[in-house]
Amino acid sequence: MNTLDTDISYLKGVGPKKAEMLNKELSIFTFHDLLHQFPHRYIDKTQFHKIGMLREDSGEVQLRGVLRRLSSVGQGRKKRLVGRLRDDTGMLELVWFSGAHWLEKQLEVGKEYVIYGRINSFKGKLSMPHPEMEEANPEKIKKAATFAPVYPSTEKLNSKGLDARNRRRIMKSLLEKIKPADVPENLPAYLVQKFRFPSRYDALRSIHFPKTEQELQAARNRLKFEELFFLQLRLLQIRRRRDAIKGFNFERVGEAFMHFYNEKLPFELTGAQKRVLKEIRRDLGRGVQMNRLLQGDVGSGKTIVGLMSMLIAIDNGFQTCLMAPTEILAQQHYNSISDYLEGMDLRVGFLSGSVKGKKRRELLAALEAGEIHILIGTHALLEPPVVFKNLGLAITDEQHRFGVAQRAKLWKKSQPYPPHVLVMTATPIPRTLAMTLYGDLDVSVIDELPPGRKEIKTVHKTENNRMRVIGFMRQEIAKGRQIYVVYPLIEESEKLDLQNLQDGYEALQREFPMPEYQISVVHGRMKPADKDYEMQRFLEKKTQIMVATTVIEVGVNVPNASVMVIENTERFGLSQLHQLRGRVGRGAEQSYCILMSSFKLSNESKERIATMVRTNNGFDIAEADLRLRGPGNIEGTQQSGILNFRIADLARDGRILQTAREVAARILDDDAKLERPEHHPVRWYLEKHGKKLKGWSRIS
Ligand code: ADP
Ligand code: MG
Repeated sequence: MNTLDTDISYLKGVGPKKAEMLNKELSIFTFHDLLHQFPHRYIDKTQFHKIGMLREDSGEVQLRGVLRRLSSVGQGRKKRLVGRLRDDTGMLELVWFSGAHWLEKQLEVGKEYVIYGRINSFKGKLSMPHPEMEEANPEKIKKAATFAPVYPSTEKLNSKGLDARNRRRIMKSLLEKIKPADVPENLPAYLVQKFRFPSRYDALRSIHFPKTEQELQAARNRLKFEELFFLQLRLLQIRRRRDAIKGFNFERVGEAFMHFYNEKLPFELTGAQKRVLKEIRRDLGRGVQMNRLLQGDVGSGKTIVGLMSMLIAIDNGFQTCLMAPTEILAQQHYNSISDYLEGMDLRVGFLSGSVKGKKRRELLAALEAGEIHILIGTHALLEPPVVFKNLGLAITDEQHRFGVAQRAKLWKKSQPYPPHVLVMTATPIPRTLAMTLYGDLDVSVIDELPPGRKEIKTVHKTENNRMRVIGFMRQEIAKGRQIYVVYPLIEESEKLDLQNLQDGYEALQREFPMPEYQISVVHGRMKPADKDYEMQRFLEKKTQIMVATTVIEVGVNVPNASVMVIENTERFGLSQLHQLRGRVGRGAEQSYCILMSSFKLSNESKERIATMVRTNNGFDIAEADLRLRGPGNIEGTQQSGILNFRIADLARDGRILQTAREVAARILDDDAKLERPEHHPVRWYLEKHGKKLKGWSRIS
């Protein structure tokens, strides 16, 4: 057995109780697990600070001095232990709020200590709560003069004797146990050489106890690469394997497509649309099932690309379907696609839960008979009674992907191969993220807006500008425009949020009184039928203002709406703000987005708002979001464990990621089964650990 597979309870200093804590709190079970939980930061123990030089913002410091006093003060829950440390420049108060009894016995007044902790300031007086204390022993100090690792911990671990110092001690005893042969190289020697990486063994030692800054950098570099490389290798393998799934071969680009292109298409396609269409055409003609994600900002013209892809399927004798997440959206697609195809001999059907009775029966019969070419609807399309004669291409809009169950339903609808799948999403994702989240898919990007589109003018306003904003709204309404006013609504504060919206609505009613003005209200707590009714009134221009929570976020198209007012902007995430703004700017008129916020803002909120004001580009915004919030918080990625990196950071390590992906692709091109001797280390490691690296985003 490899030493690394040893149960953690066998490690010196751990034992069954602590092992259980490590299992439970950190999922650390074996030596391997422990070795691969890396410090999230380091304490510089090569330097001592002087007490006289400390300032409010000194942060974490190491000091050396004599303990001068130690006494318990206060009563009951306020009880605490207070000590004083003195060096040749001054005196600092030390405070412990718990563990006083035990500490009082351990510590000795008059002795010299090396202490470590964070400087705290209360009314100008500096102190250090809960310092780490170690007797100052010259031998020890010399040995400890390194960067001491700090590991991610939990309250529980800290209180059960697995505090920072203890964790370090355990790591030390682990590293004493591990020999180079226990952690064999997992990268090909030629790569280690080329990138001048330290060996895996050295890197793992250094990442826990680096002696110098350079050594730490080198270790980090290698381990980041390693992590990203194996993930990319795995994703690319999955993608190659999927390439083996047979699919319908649409060889022809025939009459419907050409007729539409030459006679019907009301505008010139943008360069990006043409490119993407070419990518899709190639996919459809390879005899392999297509799994493509189409990313494009709101208004970039994804629908027409979807439609033209469907025409290719139709030209090859197949049926197609288009699914949208809501009834209103599906209806909008149905209307616009029917308009586009007017005068062509193609039949478009609409299906949702609300299509019932005879209408439904007739539709389903026509579908099964192959008389319907394009079926548009909600996910009701996936239900068992819906039978196609020959479904060749399925498109979904405004959704990241199908769930597993939906995928199974879809595949059942088509014989002998699964239908080709195109997923259209208006949530731009930064490149590094896409390479990881969708690393096993084909991704197309429409990164160009149709010409002549006016940039949405975005401004930031606070409460004292309220009257001016109202005045502006009146002006726009007088010009015949419509306006959205959006309020945040989150589950945790739902009651307050709804009240907030209600207050806002009433205030607006005073400023925009009936009968001159009409206001719609839509929020997530309303019955779907009531929501639809209100939406419909707005669509039909019966109301001028739509007050809403984020329910309008998903895709509604009201070209006449040209002003988006967002309330409590600071409470929205960047990608949400961008999606909301995308609701306007759909018509020929100049559109506006007004970001209302309180006067006092955190730095992050300020930066978010500044980003919105600066750019309309969804990809720029997504990059900023990634920088500000980190990959784990980007919308749509939370559930996916794939982003729980041990050491890599997608917001920062884009270049390493790019290299890792290229290297992985080259290796698979040259030696798909990793059979060459130089690739044996890779194959061995992948076999042992690769299962944990799952392709997350299989969309069909
Ligand atoms: P989205 O990508 O948000 O789904 P749509 O497909 O709804 O965008 O397109 C938005 C609008 O732009 C539609 O009114 C569509 O007709 C128009 N459009 C699409 N492509 C072009 C183009 N190449 N030139 C001009 N207008 C276009
Ligand atoms: Mg769309």
